[in-house]
Amino acid sequence: MTARLRHLPDMIADMTDSLRVAFVGKLLTDAGDVAPFVIDWRKTWRGSAIAVAFPDSVEDVAKLVRWCAAHDVRIVPQGGNTGQSGGSVPPDDGLNLVLSLTRLNKVRSIDPVNNTITVDAGCILQSVQEIAAAADRYFPLSLGAEGSCTIGGNLATNAGGTAVLRYGNARELCLGLEVVTPQGEIWDGLKGLRKDNSGYDLRDLFIASEGTLGIITGAVLKLFPKPAAQLVAWIAVQNCADAMTLFENVRRNRDTALTAFELVSDVCLGLVLKHYADTRDPLSEPSPWYVLIEFTDFKSEDNARAMLEESLAAAFEAGLIQDAVIADSLAQSRALWALRERISEAQGADGKAIKHDIAVPISSVAAFIEEGLVAVKSAYPEMRPVIFGHLGDGNLHYNFSSGQGADQTMFGAEQEKLNRIVHDIVRVHKGTISAEHGLGVLRRDEADEFRSPVERRLMAAIKTALDPRGIMNPGKLIP
Ligand code: FAD
Repeated sequence: MTARLRHLPDMIADMTDSLRVAFVGKLLTDAGDVAPFVIDWRKTWRGSAIAVAFPDSVEDVAKLVRWCAAHDVRIVPQGGNTGQSGGSVPPDDGLNLVLSLTRLNKVRSIDPVNNTITVDAGCILQSVQEIAAAADRYFPLSLGAEGSCTIGGNLATNAGGTAVLRYGNARELCLGLEVVTPQGEIWDGLKGLRKDNSGYDLRDLFIASEGTLGIITGAVLKLFPKPAAQLVAWIAVQNCADAMTLFENVRRNRDTALTAFELVSDVCLGLVLKHYADTRDPLSEPSPWYVLIEFTDFKSEDNARAMLEESLAAAFEAGLIQDAVIADSLAQSRALWALRERISEAQGADGKAIKHDIAVPISSVAAFIEEGLVAVKSAYPEMRPVIFGHLGDGNLHYNFSSGQGADQTMFGAEQEKLNRIVHDIVRVHKGTISAEHGLGVLRRDEADEFRSPVERRLMAAIKTALDPRGIMNPGKLIP
């Protein structure tokens, strides 16, 4: 063991020399340069890598993979490194290479008739949205990390975000993929087809595989007509049951206009107001819960406003809501969205958090929230719930926070017990413990407990069939 340890640095130096010969692109090998790529966005997981490689072409990716396969080096694909489950961080042992897709960032083509855009996997989500808008089209995937996350990462985690209610998650927005396999072959599945029943769906296999089956290098994404108006309202509600009834009413009457229905607790709003000096409470009176609704219209803002006003008037009449403000400009709509989208970062700035990314059937959301609060409060009366999420998708970020000044070590030690309390209630409601952030290392083992033996066997068979040497993102997704 001692002998092996003594020779490890020499071995790594030999390997990086060999890698430099095999790969002419940008390569970071200095420990200081590598460091930011082996720690995650939440600074929860830290690993090690012999190098970070930045290929410039799909052929370079394939070349790198073949080199890794030949030298028994494991590969961790990485996009913007904004994932929330530790999937983009290498293990802290063994020989690992971080393969960053960020230089593979070209838009390959836009087909306005087919309503598709074909992009490299390293394209930043926000730039894809902007390029689509410049072509008078709309790419609806949207989430708090959109200025840094990549299309490859979005597809590898099957990201959700704020528009799933209308447009679906990343999987539903993708028509085709290009993937480098663990053997270093390039699979060109860049089809822009709405219908294709020609066998097993390889595209769907790679989506949500979190880099464990291959490296996504390109994608064909769906585009949509550009809306004329997206109008946001911020609404005070007394409880989650009223929020659910409001959702049901709005969907029944204005289904095609409704594009987002988000829930925010008073604690979440308080955190954002505390940590962002440029934010303010849009309503004059505090409320235990808030709802953010977005309406989209393809004719005009006046149309969207009239529909939103009508829906809110009916809700006031029914006693479902106490107060509301409708944005009077695009800037105000953005300011209201910021109150929702900055919660994750505000929570991070406020101390340790125990996070749950759960989904239950929409009809069970209100019951789940209440049952969870009762159970957690009876075990941990001092825990502070930080609950928000995509109510219209049944997906909640059901988090708990210590608050600044609390004993952070003690708090962290309770994580497993608290997870068990929350996840047992998820199980009762036939939900999932990983709705949109992926399993990574965070939920890998607990998710396995949710699987039946058949499901476990099928998952293992897929991994072994595609990556028999186990070099793709080891230790992620499945135990
Ligand atoms: P990374 O973090 O780099 O990687 C994530 C996983 O994908 C890893 O397992 C990695 O190995 C794999 N991977 C990355 N690129 C590739 C590739 N090309 N081929 C194969 N595997 C690859 N998520 C939501 O779903 N909804 C939200 O509302 C949401 N909000 C967020 C808000 C904030 C502030 C932050 C920081 C994150 C949020 N997320 C949200 C998490 C979200 O999953 C990621 O931001 C994003 O989808 C990951 O993209 P990335 O490029 O950063 O991937």
